[in-house]
Amino acid sequence: MRLVFLGPPGAGKGTQAKKVAGEFGIPHISTGDLLRSEVDRGTALGQKASSYMSTGNLVPDEVVVAMIESRVLEQDCQPGYLLDGFPRTLPQARALDAAVQERPLGRAIYFEVEDAALIDRLVGRRTCRNCGMTYHGTNRPEKELGICDRCGEEVTQREDDREELVRNRLEVYRRETSPVISFYEDNGILSTVAAGASIDEVYGSVTRVLRGLGESS
Ligand code: AMP
Repeated sequence: MRLVFLGPPGAGKGTQAKKVAGEFGIPHISTGDLLRSEVDRGTALGQKASSYMSTGNLVPDEVVVAMIESRVLEQDCQPGYLLDGFPRTLPQARALDAAVQERPLGRAIYFEVEDAALIDRLVGRRTCRNCGMTYHGTNRPEKELGICDRCGEEVTQREDDREELVRNRLEVYRRETSPVISFYEDNGILSTVAAGASIDEVYGSVTRVLRGLGESS
């Protein structure tokens, strides 16, 4: 259960990661959530990351690699972990491989979705700043507008989910992150899931992969 969830922004990685991590009892490690928490707390790392994040660009590799290298070696990651949003570049993928050499990754799941659906999902997305739970204006609204169903905190649009930034994030994804898919394919640990379907259907596909019944590509 040492997993990586890969795919474009808006592919549903975070939503699926929360469900899988809950079901299988492993930590869900989202670099986006970790970085947003650093920004909110005004730490030195957060100050460094914030200008990249607010323009939809990637935070430098050395910053995120250092954050993840130490995180996956913590005690609670012994039974496994789920990385969501990392690695996002080839140097990050190589650094992760080196860091976990003794207990290598088990599987990388690639969430495949068409671009048109991604833009709609991201622009309509609302996120709880406290627990990271996501909603969608029309497809999956919170029960009480602006209040998180899970923790009761405020739900707002992430700044980088505005349309002009979404387009840049998708461009950055295509340029920097999509080569990581072939990296894991070459390593023989990639599985692809059609992620344009409903949350429950995608979850079904993910759990089939995890139970070894899914199709590896
Ligand atoms: P996310 O919540 O995964 O969409 O990430 C939000 C933002 O955090 C991204 O647009 C990047 O600016 C930054 N970020 C998250 N993960 C990484 C990563 N692995 N490498 C570089 N930047 C990252």
